[in-house]
Amino acid sequence: LILMSQAPADIAINARWIAPVEGPRLLEHHSLVIRGEQIVDLLPTTKLADRWQAKQTLRLPQHLLIPGFVNAHAHAAMVLMRGLADDLPLMDWLEKHIWPAESRHVSEAFVQDGVSLACAGMITSGTTCFADMYFFPHQTAKAASQAGVRACLFSPLLDFPSAMAQNSDDYIAHALRLSDDWQHDPLIQVGFGPHAPYTVSDDPLKRIVTLAAELDCGIMMHVHETADEVRKAEQQGERPLARLKRLGLLGPRLLAVHMTQVSDDEVRLLADTGTRVVHCPESNLKLASGFCPVERLRRAGVSVALGTDGAASNNDLDMLGEMRTASLLAKGVAGDACALPADAALTMATLGGAKALGMEEFIGSLKVGKLADITAVDLGAINTQPIYDPISQLVYAAGRHQVSHVWVNGRPLLSGGRLTTLNPDDLLQRSQRWATLLGAPS
Ligand SMILES: [Zn+2]
Repeated sequence: LILMSQAPADIAINARWIAPVEGPRLLEHHSLVIRGEQIVDLLPTTKLADRWQAKQTLRLPQHLLIPGFVNAHAHAAMVLMRGLADDLPLMDWLEKHIWPAESRHVSEAFVQDGVSLACAGMITSGTTCFADMYFFPHQTAKAASQAGVRACLFSPLLDFPSAMAQNSDDYIAHALRLSDDWQHDPLIQVGFGPHAPYTVSDDPLKRIVTLAAELDCGIMMHVHETADEVRKAEQQGERPLARLKRLGLLGPRLLAVHMTQVSDDEVRLLADTGTRVVHCPESNLKLASGFCPVERLRRAGVSVALGTDGAASNNDLDMLGEMRTASLLAKGVAGDACALPADAALTMATLGGAKALGMEEFIGSLKVGKLADITAVDLGAINTQPIYDPISQLVYAAGRHQVSHVWVNGRPLLSGGRLTTLNPDDLLQRSQRWATLLGAPS
């Protein structure tokens, strides 16, 4: 029976709490209604039956609904190198371990299997969108799209050859093909991913500035990751950020990843140009790269998003954990216990990522009209009791095993803790095969 006043919907989620991130801070005993790909209502559960006739009603009596996490910097396929080389500084880790392993093993098949495994790990920990920078981005697009996860792929570019391309023209051609091939896909966005100031020369960077403006897409680059990087560039006459400014890269299109070394002038420069910063606290800690001054950046009005970086330097793709680390580290670095409070950490991990990727109109908060990219966290577990404030429990106490449901574009990807688009047994077999190959003596 459909009452005259009722409108049809696909899913109604009756949640104990909802943290929409935009609008009201916290809703209690509310329902979120999904029709097709969109959130069409947020209303008190007692009013649900007056307005909506949903095909499916899901009761989540001890859960918190949040916008799905946006992981603003990853190298998803690198999950297959998780634990391959630990406890090393960045350049040793890259030059002696990661780059040699990549030159021997990275292929389309490696990326396909790695990204599928990464997507399983991201879905089960509540991530609905990730920004990626890695070889063979076509395969990343394919694997993410098959898993149903939203992805923004920054097509890589380096001065040196790889299994994917011979030179910068070749890398750029790849990026343009990627953009052509995926431009109509509802889950995939494309941008340029010049690796770092020390691996990409001026000419390709200038070309990227022009092309990114033509295609209206973003540019992601590791910038000021370590003090050593900045010092070496200074010896050649210019800090990396100054060089990027000279080349026209600074602006809202640029996602500057890491930024552990930032002078006061550079904070102002980032704020004035609208350049976005992606903070990857666990990777920076693990490689002892330094500390991004998140609170200083935030107070200056710089937009900061949160990323895990690759699982080879983290070693997981867990945004819940990353959010907690970011909040705790910000307090330590600022010498201020009020720095990056729980609400701000949640915003950084959701809407902050959406803004960095230019997708805040569509995702990043639970708002009527936005796409239904949603994560449910079961706060009924022992380790998140008692509950004075669910957002505090989420940021400071909850673990990823408490993520129970995930939707992207209104489609369930995790239901009661079970993956719906990926087969864990198959993923485990594939990852074992790669471990045997990569772990074998070269
Ligand atoms: Zn990275």
